[in-house]
Amino acid sequence: MKKIAVVGAGYVGLVTSVGLAHIGHQVTCIDIDHKKIDSLRRGQSPIYEQSLEPMIQENQRQNRITFTSNYEELQDAEIIMLAVGTPQLSDGSANLTFIYQAAERIAHTVQQPVTIVVKSTVPVGTCEKLHEYVQERTPHPVELASNPEFLREGSALKDFFEGDRIVIGANHEETSQLIMEMYTPLQIPIMTTDLASAEMIKYASNAFLATKISFINEIASICEKVGANVEDVANGMGMDQRIAPSFLQAGIGYGGSCFPKDTKALVQMAGHVEHRFELLESVIHVNNKQQNKLVDQMKERFDTLLRKRVTVLGLSFKPGTDDLREAASLVIIDRLLREGASITAYDPIAMPRAKEYFPAVTFASNVEEALSESEVAIIVTEWDEFKELPLHYYEELMDEAIIFDGRNCYDLEQVKKHRIEYYSVGRPVIR
Ligand code: NAD
Repeated sequence: MKKIAVVGAGYVGLVTSVGLAHIGHQVTCIDIDHKKIDSLRRGQSPIYEQSLEPMIQENQRQNRITFTSNYEELQDAEIIMLAVGTPQLSDGSANLTFIYQAAERIAHTVQQPVTIVVKSTVPVGTCEKLHEYVQERTPHPVELASNPEFLREGSALKDFFEGDRIVIGANHEETSQLIMEMYTPLQIPIMTTDLASAEMIKYASNAFLATKISFINEIASICEKVGANVEDVANGMGMDQRIAPSFLQAGIGYGGSCFPKDTKALVQMAGHVEHRFELLESVIHVNNKQQNKLVDQMKERFDTLLRKRVTVLGLSFKPGTDDLREAASLVIIDRLLREGASITAYDPIAMPRAKEYFPAVTFASNVEEALSESEVAIIVTEWDEFKELPLHYYEELMDEAIIFDGRNCYDLEQVKKHRIEYYSVGRPVIR
């Protein structure tokens, strides 16, 4: 059992805190957001993530986890995990303000030797600089490690306990060893490397996954023109073990708090060392086009969207989360509003957050209400609730069932059995 402090109680920090507590460590989770800490102390999760809330409560009952805004409480931690946000600056590079603010507070608080483990996604070279920054501000010996996070929102706890790998970057063998010990109860392959390589593994992994998505989306656009079905194409490609089937689902592009910002940050990082990352620039460009694709198609279909009653199904950037950061829904709703459409939206989980973003949107309390009297439905997030919705609902509830499906939720043969006009991505149109 180790005494661990986790700085940042967001998607990564909270899941990490609860996961580490669950495998037996004594965890103090610190956040400067008092509202978050108050709700966590009451056993309420400020974010939606499957199984997270009961696991917070269970570990609180076992006295393995505490939540605080007071940095003094990390004084006796042997390991401090840094999991604050690294959002993007206007030029696309990573904003390290929160990292340095937290580092400064840590430096002025620690009272004994400590190892700081950076979980946040930070540009290559940051850990080395951060080490110096903290060490200059405290007489106590500080070690620093990079331990990038690979969890996926929507399956974050599962990924904590059963991830594909744990990457540890450190300058000294003993530092890597300490972090390996911390993760010992987990049966996950661990790779150790230097700080810079660990930092780069995170960016390269996200850039590669984003590339797969934009690649299949480009193939989808060609499929639409040559009469092929991208789903069959992706299945056929994915059967090749060198390619693998994941991240080959055509759709309206990637979003979320990681891929958009991490791809842009990597382009910036490459630029700083005079390497133009042209492939990744194209990946980003394709994704931007993709998010606008369905609205472009709708405009073609209807000539004008002025006063069109549009139902938006799904708001979060993917199923299983309430996270709206860089979600396709933001781009799509913004465009629809500018075209003069009247929008009703529904999402099983993300509506409370979405209400802050879209004062001009009407929010329905269920999918039936969202579809009733609608002239056109657009599916933005592939929640099971939408995938499992019987197709006759569209026929019965809408004026005329016209669906623009940005996530290829329905089987074309099933759609053909109904009076539905159906547009999806990279597959033939059904009229
Ligand atoms: P988040 O915005 O959900 O959480 C960050 C938290 O840090 C917030 O609660 C904020 O109040 C807190 N914070 C900011 N400054 C602080 C300070 N000085 N002291 C204490 N708390 C402070 O962010 P997130 O999604 O958890 O991401 C955190 C990092 O992990 C980012 O670098 C991100 O790129 C990376 N990451 C995120 C994911 C993901 O799926 N969300 C996956 C892998 C990696």
